[in-house]
Amino acid sequence: MYAFAAVVPQRNWCTGEEHIKYWIGDRHCEYQENKIMNILVINCGSSSLKYQLINTDNEEVLAKGLCERIGIDGGMHTYQSKGGDKVKTNVDIPDHTKAVSLVIEALTDSKDGVIGSLSEIDAVGHRIVHGGEKFSKSVVINDEVIAAIKEVSDLAPLHNPANLTGIASCKALMPDVPMVAVFDTAFHQTMPEKAYLYGIPYEYYRKYKVRRYGFHGTSHEYVANRTAEFLGRDIKDMKIIVCHLGNGASVSAVKGGRCVDTSMGLTPLEGLIMGTRSGDIDPAIIGFVAGKENLSIGQMLEVLNKRSGVLGLSDGVSSDFRDLAEAAGSGNAQAAKALETYAYHVAKYIGSYAAAMNGVDAITFTAGVGENNISAREEICGYLTYLGTQIDPDRNNVRGEETVISKDGSKVTVLVIPTDEEMSIARQTAALCR
Ligand code: ADP
Repeated sequence: MYAFAAVVPQRNWCTGEEHIKYWIGDRHCEYQENKIMNILVINCGSSSLKYQLINTDNEEVLAKGLCERIGIDGGMHTYQSKGGDKVKTNVDIPDHTKAVSLVIEALTDSKDGVIGSLSEIDAVGHRIVHGGEKFSKSVVINDEVIAAIKEVSDLAPLHNPANLTGIASCKALMPDVPMVAVFDTAFHQTMPEKAYLYGIPYEYYRKYKVRRYGFHGTSHEYVANRTAEFLGRDIKDMKIIVCHLGNGASVSAVKGGRCVDTSMGLTPLEGLIMGTRSGDIDPAIIGFVAGKENLSIGQMLEVLNKRSGVLGLSDGVSSDFRDLAEAAGSGNAQAAKALETYAYHVAKYIGSYAAAMNGVDAITFTAGVGENNISAREEICGYLTYLGTQIDPDRNNVRGEETVISKDGSKVTVLVIPTDEEMSIARQTAALCR
């Protein structure tokens, strides 16, 4: 379906460089075998565009930035080159094409830029939120891929159209640069039916593909693989539970390198209690509260997505775990309650995934809270001593470092592995474009 054919390398006899020629769809492309690959990673939201330019040969982030308030007043571009200061520019950004042009201008700027010209961007990797059942791995973007992403847009109506706008803008400004789509849902496509089906009439799956998809896949895949690499073990022989605990949060069960279950569902609303999302609730609550408060389904979903989670539980103290810890430390009982409930729910998911895999070798914490929140890790692991999990308080006293935090004799190895979704997207893009 996705034509991608390489032909025999051809040597340029003047320079001695080898070129590989290949086609994306009907477009002819070429790259040099030993040339450095600079990958532009784009994460496009409806009014924002985050980016990084990554040299995938030495894995250096050459520059990164953010275009905000696209299409609304008060546009702003923040840019930072490697080793340079953050440069913030107030600039009107009417659409995503303007945002991409600002990115290119910044990267090629004679003062703060990191490349001489556009030709030094070898490929673009796009983060795409929903790939539905169509995509179980990253793909080179062509017209068929664009159409397929559009087709599943009703599963992620806020995200996929924005991602497609990012693709269209890059295509308009860099028509000859190959692009790759990396899906948040792809890693979870290996889940068995029993894990992804809901206990509702099967016709909703048949007709509308209502099922568990899972998100944060790029992070779960990266962290699971790093866990095995870090321990010097073959991932094929391992049962790993990855806890991606950020503002959005999800847990996944990874057996033999393949995802067998994950906590987010049709949308990112299901699963753990998050910063502002409720996670699992009795679905009957929606009708009950909507009736009492005179709210529509849309308004209820807004409550569950934006006003719930630890923000709602703490009675509005904060969705940020640092604020909550501080408030709880100064005696705010509601903040303490939110943190306690949060940790309990994470532990319950870990327990259920140990059951799903009939065992667990490693539990890995990642993302903002997982990497940095020492007391949350300690509290969560406190529920898991029945699995033979023993946390070492000194080892656990770390932030944002790849390390083992369990005791040497612990039956389950517990780790912290910082996630790096952009690097993972860059690697996958380079691998598909080489
Ligand atoms: P997302 O990418 O989903 O927006 P992050 O992975 O950045 O979220 O995680 C954000 C959360 O991580 C916030 O609640 C924040 O409080 C928490 N966090 C970040 N740094 C620290 C830290 N040093 N100590 C404790 N919590 C932290």
